[in-house]
Amino acid sequence: MRPELLNPAFTPIERLKGCGPKLAALIAKLAGGRLLDLWWHKPSGLVDRRYRPKIIEAQPGRICTLDITVERHLPPRNPRQPYKIIVSDETGSLTLVFFNGRADYLNRALPPGEQRVISGQFELFDGMAQMTHPDRIGTAEEVEKLAAIEPVYPLTAGLTPRVLAKLIDEALERLPDLPEWLDPALQAREHWPSWREAVRKLHRPQEADDLEPPAPHRTRLAYDELLANQLALLLVRRRLKRRAGRPLKGDGCLRDALLKRLPWPLTNAQTMAIAEIAGDMASDHRMLRLLQGDVGSGKTMVALMAMLAAVEAGAQAALMAPTEILARQHAAGLRPHVEALGLKLVLLTGRDKGKARAALLESLASGEAHMVVGTHALFQDDVAFHDLGLAVIDEQHRFGVGQRLLLSGKGEAADMLVMTATPIPRTLSLTAYGDMDVSKLTEKPPGREPVDTRVVASDRMLEVVAAVKRKIEAGERVYWVCPLVEESEVSDLAAAAERHAALREALEPALGPVIGLVHGQMPAADKDAAMEAFLRGDTKLLVATTVIEVGVDVPEATLIVIEHAERFGLAQLHQLRGRVGRGGRPGACILMYHGKPGETARARLKILRETDDGFRIAEEDLRLRGAGELLGTRQSGLPDFKLADLAHDGDLLAMARDDARLILERDADLSDARGQALRHLLYLFERDAAIQYLRSG
Ligand code: ADP
Ligand code: MG
Repeated sequence: MRPELLNPAFTPIERLKGCGPKLAALIAKLAGGRLLDLWWHKPSGLVDRRYRPKIIEAQPGRICTLDITVERHLPPRNPRQPYKIIVSDETGSLTLVFFNGRADYLNRALPPGEQRVISGQFELFDGMAQMTHPDRIGTAEEVEKLAAIEPVYPLTAGLTPRVLAKLIDEALERLPDLPEWLDPALQAREHWPSWREAVRKLHRPQEADDLEPPAPHRTRLAYDELLANQLALLLVRRRLKRRAGRPLKGDGCLRDALLKRLPWPLTNAQTMAIAEIAGDMASDHRMLRLLQGDVGSGKTMVALMAMLAAVEAGAQAALMAPTEILARQHAAGLRPHVEALGLKLVLLTGRDKGKARAALLESLASGEAHMVVGTHALFQDDVAFHDLGLAVIDEQHRFGVGQRLLLSGKGEAADMLVMTATPIPRTLSLTAYGDMDVSKLTEKPPGREPVDTRVVASDRMLEVVAAVKRKIEAGERVYWVCPLVEESEVSDLAAAAERHAALREALEPALGPVIGLVHGQMPAADKDAAMEAFLRGDTKLLVATTVIEVGVDVPEATLIVIEHAERFGLAQLHQLRGRVGRGGRPGACILMYHGKPGETARARLKILRETDDGFRIAEEDLRLRGAGELLGTRQSGLPDFKLADLAHDGDLLAMARDDARLILERDADLSDARGQALRHLLYLFERDAAIQYLRSG
């Protein structure tokens, strides 16, 4: 149960005074629909109204607060002209300009002959002092009551700063006083304010530094968020590990036989990872290991060796992929090896229905099938194993923690191996996986040539289209990735659909109907169908939003064009270009830039051209940009932090991890006073799913 003190946090913003459904909908789009979302909606800047010059000394372009006398009103002669008001002080005069100004309102606010205080941006227009729509108008008394320094918030169309600021003020009035969850010594050492004070300060910046991560109140809130994240991950991990594992120790006969079949030797990195995994499996602890390896580093072979070890020990093994097409590709790749060893591998996806499905389930339940490859379908209730010893999860960032638990629930104490192709820097992997054991494939099989990466300005579109045409005529296949438009999936789609239409018009008269389209909003079955048509060669050019299935192998693909490359994270670009050049023919990648790349953009490109090492690229990218951008948080499934900024807060994260460990060592069920306070923290950052693991299990 959520502590009652937290009720205000989850109150809908519509309950605030003056917030109707329309306004609530706007804010929900911008920040979220609950008071909590307003608390976390941090200012992006501030307006300083402390500059109070005389008219004659005012600097153009600056926000000025001026003491003036109203001289006279100049109503417009026709409605298209602005309403003007001349005001003055002892040093000069100034014209106030109001478009669509209403005479009655302006006469009330600025009566001729009266003294007023106004604040807004001072401009020179044809040498004349001018201010368009002052932000503030009032008597000296009224204006002094307002803060001279105002936060500036990210807005959305249709929402004015004043309305948002007012709602945030109201939301802040309802901040509860929560029990302190921080270690008192830590809090004293860091001079951190209480949580409530910190949230207030977040919205009351006094100087530019207050907006930056090192400010104590911001650091505190970032730490709170990271602590909630680390505690939740530890709780999940503990839950997974608590059920004792069982030793799975094979005699190596199947693995040896496989190695004899392979046309190439394993890389050293593969051999090492396999040994680490076998070590975990043989121990009586449950394995929870992350296998990180760049695209093409050979993770599948490592997985197969682990699966064989499970089978040698008499258990079954499952490999789960995020999409149907990937599952099928895995099954097709593994089956020849597995069958040559005299074992049975089955494929289970959402498409299997009726009798066929029943037969598949029977083979799993009876143990006749040694291995299964599948999609989410493996989670379903009616899927039962004879004896699941190892669950391998591929491209795991698509799956949530909850799903991981579900699959492992199918095996009494199944070991778990999670594979990711995203080269996640340590900082990020800690937030997504907590302290999982990690094996890294830092080396790729020999013989693969790096993808030839070029940067092209978008005004050379025609040349790019010509290059695409040549590739297709040569029997090769091409990906065309469309701009990622922030915020709106719908416009992603529009951009891709538009490009698709334009390319069809340009190419299909000569090449025939060879252009496919795949985007994130298609039903999964259509996505699979579009990918499959491209895989089979029914289509030769695939226009895609960024959904190009991570991991799908199309050996004929040799060119990838990425539009608006400046909008992608470096690691994401690296992933995308890993899609080409997989079939022996060299791959090429064209990064199209719109506008002139700035310094950061150039630095990023340089890295991309210089190295093919996904880990290095990811580290560099984290340095150059924020963590959210790095992997495209939206798609990566990595936690999307509201207050912490992993590019700066790496040290905080390490502190939070140690703190979380210590907390659970001392108070495993979060039951003492601090533990109770920490439960508030978990709810506050919506990591409360972890709370259910406190008592159960
Ligand atoms: P990923 O890590 O991207 O999943 P894969 O497992 O798909 O990589 O392997 C990429 C390709 O490299 C596959 O065609 C695989 O057969 C091949 N491969 C794997 N290990 C080796 C190796 N040690 N030597 C040569 N080729 C290998
Ligand atoms: Mg793979």
